[in-house]
Amino acid sequence: MGLDRIRGQEQAISLLRSAFGSGRLAHAYLFRGPYGVGKEMAALELAKSLHCETEGLQDCGQCPACKMSDGLSHPDTHLIFPTPRTIKPVERAERVSESVRKGFRDEDFGRKTAIISVETILTEVVVKVGRRPYIGPWKVFIISDADRMTSEAANTLLKTLEEPPAQTVLILTSSRSSALPATVVSRCQKIPFSPLSRVEVEAVLTGDARLGMDAAKARAASAIAMGSPGAAVRASQSGLAAELKNIAAIMKGSRAGGVRSLIDEANRLAYRLGRDEQQKVLDLMLLWFRDVLVVSESRSATVPELLYSSYEDQIKSQADIMELADLEQLITKVDEARRAIERYSSPSIVFTSVLLDMAVVRKRAITRRGSQHGVQ
Ligand SMILES: [Zn+2]
Repeated sequence: MGLDRIRGQEQAISLLRSAFGSGRLAHAYLFRGPYGVGKEMAALELAKSLHCETEGLQDCGQCPACKMSDGLSHPDTHLIFPTPRTIKPVERAERVSESVRKGFRDEDFGRKTAIISVETILTEVVVKVGRRPYIGPWKVFIISDADRMTSEAANTLLKTLEEPPAQTVLILTSSRSSALPATVVSRCQKIPFSPLSRVEVEAVLTGDARLGMDAAKARAASAIAMGSPGAAVRASQSGLAAELKNIAAIMKGSRAGGVRSLIDEANRLAYRLGRDEQQKVLDLMLLWFRDVLVVSESRSATVPELLYSSYEDQIKSQADIMELADLEQLITKVDEARRAIERYSSPSIVFTSVLLDMAVVRKRAITRRGSQHGVQ
């Protein structure tokens, strides 16, 4: 248990285990990798294992230290998060426990305006590093999203990174480690975290009771998460997983109302969703075509595993009428749309153009099939 609960990060966990096993746990680590793949969770589990009364890098889950770690109240684990400049300390503490209770950090919490100030580094790290541990023997400081430190904060942390007291571990996490000053990075042992497989994401989502996700929800959310359980949770909470159903309706052409309805839909996507969500919607469309491609290329009777498994019939019938050239055209179109959104083009124009193109290609495929059958 403990560190082994972190799924899909075997390399990171084994680096930590072997360092501990040989008595060479570094005093400063940088856990780096994409958003939502378990960096903070691994940091918390490492702290818990270090504090547990059991020998070795284990946690029993029963001893007082483990109970305190579970409740995020172990006095020798110090959590530092970016916060909006104006936040009060009490509110900050509440937000930290709230995000841990939910299992994943709230996106708002890492809002782009949030920072780790020099005052925070001074009071939460520099001063506390100098004190003896309350329960001991270890003291762990977790600086989450360390790239949000102001340059003054980063400079202040440098000295601590250079000369930390014994049995003190500082763990910096970052999904944008290139934004960290080189002086900070060079003083930390780097531990890489990678995206998970879709199956692993699903397992994380259904395995964590705090998330309350059933298999169908987890499947939908993991299809769009690009290997990040955190992103999957975010997608699910933002209603993006529900978009999957909507996308399927568009793709199988089952929406009534013709062109007018497509334009309405394009406007809905353009005005109701944020730019990140719009990108994800386009990803969902690409995944639909991926499924169609997979089916058309599988010669066997058994259909390979589909992302849109609940729409197998519709996927099959599209694979039936679409030619490779149709699919290529649509995939290119969606890909271009993705880049257009990135370049801040008008989402309304982008989505209208994509949806109309899809309707045209569908219609062409159906007509072609009709005329082929007519000739026979
Ligand atoms: Zn324990």
